[in-house]
Amino acid sequence: MRTASVIVDLPTRQTNQPFTYLIPDDLLDFNLLGHRVRVPFGKRNLMGYVVAVGQSERSDFQLKKIESIIDEKPVLNSEMLKLSEWLSNYVFSYRVQVIQTILPNAFKPKYLKGLKIVDQVPEKIKENIFLNNQEIEFLPKNYTSEQIKVINSLIRQGKIVQTTTIQKKNKGKKVKVLSNNLNDNDIATNLNKKSLSDSQKKLLIFLSGHRDGFFQVKELAEILDISKSTILTAEKKSWLKKSEVRMTRNPVKKIAVTKTNAVELNSDQKKVFNSVESAITKNENKTFLLEGITGSGKTEVYLQLIEKTIAQGKTALLLVPEIALTPQMIRLVKSRFLDSVALLHSGLSDGERLDQWEEIRDGKIKIVIGTRSAVFSPLTNIGLIIMDEEHETNYKQEGNPRYHARDIALWRAKYHQAVTLLGSATPSLESRARAQKGIFKLLTMNHRAVSGAKLPDVSIVDMREVWQKEHADNDFSPTLLKKIEERKENHEQTILLLNRRGFSSFVMCRNCGYVPRCPNCNLSLTLHMDSHSLKCHYCGYEEAIPKKCPVCGSPQIRYVGTGTEKIETKLNSLVNGIRVARLDQDTTKRKGSLEKILRDFGKGNYDVLLGTQMVAKGLDFPDVTLVGVINADIGLNLPDFRSGEKTFQLLTQVAGRSGRAGKTGEVIIQTFNPDNYAIKLAADQNYEGFYKTEMSIRHIADYSPYYYTIQVGIDGPDQFPASRAIDEVAEFIKPKLAKETIVLGPTPKAIAKLRNRYYFQIILKYKKDPNIESTLSELQTVFGEKLPKDIYLSIDRDPVSFI
Ligand code: ADP
Ligand code: ZN
Ligand code: ZN
Repeated sequence: MRTASVIVDLPTRQTNQPFTYLIPDDLLDFNLLGHRVRVPFGKRNLMGYVVAVGQSERSDFQLKKIESIIDEKPVLNSEMLKLSEWLSNYVFSYRVQVIQTILPNAFKPKYLKGLKIVDQVPEKIKENIFLNNQEIEFLPKNYTSEQIKVINSLIRQGKIVQTTTIQKKNKGKKVKVLSNNLNDNDIATNLNKKSLSDSQKKLLIFLSGHRDGFFQVKELAEILDISKSTILTAEKKSWLKKSEVRMTRNPVKKIAVTKTNAVELNSDQKKVFNSVESAITKNENKTFLLEGITGSGKTEVYLQLIEKTIAQGKTALLLVPEIALTPQMIRLVKSRFLDSVALLHSGLSDGERLDQWEEIRDGKIKIVIGTRSAVFSPLTNIGLIIMDEEHETNYKQEGNPRYHARDIALWRAKYHQAVTLLGSATPSLESRARAQKGIFKLLTMNHRAVSGAKLPDVSIVDMREVWQKEHADNDFSPTLLKKIEERKENHEQTILLLNRRGFSSFVMCRNCGYVPRCPNCNLSLTLHMDSHSLKCHYCGYEEAIPKKCPVCGSPQIRYVGTGTEKIETKLNSLVNGIRVARLDQDTTKRKGSLEKILRDFGKGNYDVLLGTQMVAKGLDFPDVTLVGVINADIGLNLPDFRSGEKTFQLLTQVAGRSGRAGKTGEVIIQTFNPDNYAIKLAADQNYEGFYKTEMSIRHIADYSPYYYTIQVGIDGPDQFPASRAIDEVAEFIKPKLAKETIVLGPTPKAIAKLRNRYYFQIILKYKKDPNIESTLSELQTVFGEKLPKDIYLSIDRDPVSFI
């Protein structure tokens, strides 16, 4: 008997294993591996994924049969089947959750409830409820309570049954298209006619040059700049033939580019290129860490390596850390390679993502660009995986499954005997340490690529002195303000970083000290002037700005701290006629607004681009000669052992935006901690110095990369049951772990309450612990059954944030 092992779409402890089903006769000739199928499970029908096929001799009980397959083609190839198995163990996640993460959203099954007549029912019911069908879709809200009563009684009598069907995925709209219906002779004859209008002439000439190809009416009208009625008339005259096609929703096609060619590499770039290229050609499974200062031309190296890879018949994957960086990157790549480029990120619609994914799976794509989840794109025959800005924490998924794209990239590169290239001006300590050990090969580029461009001059402004002298809480030091004015006079541009949005960080009653807090998270609320409200930056809670203190009634409310909104207002009042563009979560909510702000700044419509960490990354504007950091200390004192590293990275990245073309750049860092090592070394743009200092700190404190860390968390809606649960977790795991493993906690998390849930954690630190994985998966099994429904257990391997 032929059987199939199926992972069903039910993420629970009990169903986290394949179930065996019989393959029905009509599917025996079909390779079911990797297919989505419909299977009976208990009393219902579920969707499942075939993860193995085989033979069974078992006759001791009746195996259930697979009911049907869902798609024409498999959705998981053998690589993805193996990857999902490995990953679910590695990140302590259910396999079906991992599979759903691997696949585009559109494959998530939507179950439709239905009713089906299986016996004699009264004619009236047939007519009114079933509308004379045998089976209908059933949404209770569309029926009266009387009708529901009748339906329920018929179900009890066994005359009708409830059904579930799996909704087909959205295939995209069919659209009307037109194609050429004339041969050369016809065209020539028509062109000679006297009565021909200019528009018709245009159309005919176009058709003679486009024998094949399908065009929508609107598209054709736009291309030729003629009216739609001209086109419809031509269709009536049978110059054009009508047909219908399914639109593939393609976000890359829309991007207009002009072809660019490879640039001659400088000697630094050449060295890097040669090492990586040789590994690609030899099909070596090697990982390179490219430590290249900002503006050293990493992107050009990426492009030329991709070119080599596809010239050898292989495919390439290029990952960027966030959506904001994709427009720029896709434009660069498409203008070099034109077609066969796909884009995958969560900003696309489900339909766009599905269509891009299918093109990749069907082998039409050679290069994929995307954010974190693009690491799962179904490319085959991968030759090169590039991870730009490899230190970015966005590469780690915060929710379940908690995977890091770097781990997946390395796994896939091994599977394909391919090369991984990790690039950054400020590599993560983990990667840099691996390069130290020789696990990764370290490559460096220490010069800016554009001839004449140097790293900018950086100076630190001690804000303690500024405040003493000025006797006021000034956000701008006189030095920074003067330089911004100078830039404006000289028609050069400034980028200002303040990593906090909103107007003020919080508000406080001058009389009694009361600070309004979020009722869901217990964190102070941020003042927003544009919406005249106080907002929680963690859960989105919003309330009106109080006119008087709710505790003491005093009308004296003080605004404390500074956000981007306040800086914008201040700058407008301090510098006459200055044009400021603000770039933060609040100004970029609408689709396309981010691109517009950047485009306008690039055109020179603004003097200053002010924003949160969004302005720090990847931007390449030649007229920017000044970068100012309003307050470098935000983030420095967060309760996270990586706060120094993150501050260093942010400051180095933003400093790197200055003086990228020939003009010399300058950077001003305002801080109250001018002696802090991370700030000082960032000012020197001394990554290697920072690496050494930070490594010694991590060594003393037993932190990553000297130790691996795993965070075990519990959260629940009530404080005490959750805290009792974390204590039980600690008691359960402690005796099972190796003696050398360090267990910190249980403690409340740094943000102890969020969205009305209480969070607790235990941190495990270990170098080598043969028991750790088995202990944690046992913990999952035992607690998966034991914990109350509303209390969640989470296990986070190598967490990137502890807040
Ligand atoms: P990075 O990503 O390392 O910060 P980029 O790739 O953005 O740097 O390159 C910075 C600038 O240098 C870009 O404007 C790019 O066009 C230019 N550039 C790169 N390589 C060369 C080269 N070999 N010769 C001249 N200009 C180059
Ligand atoms: Zn008060
Ligand atoms: Zn909140």
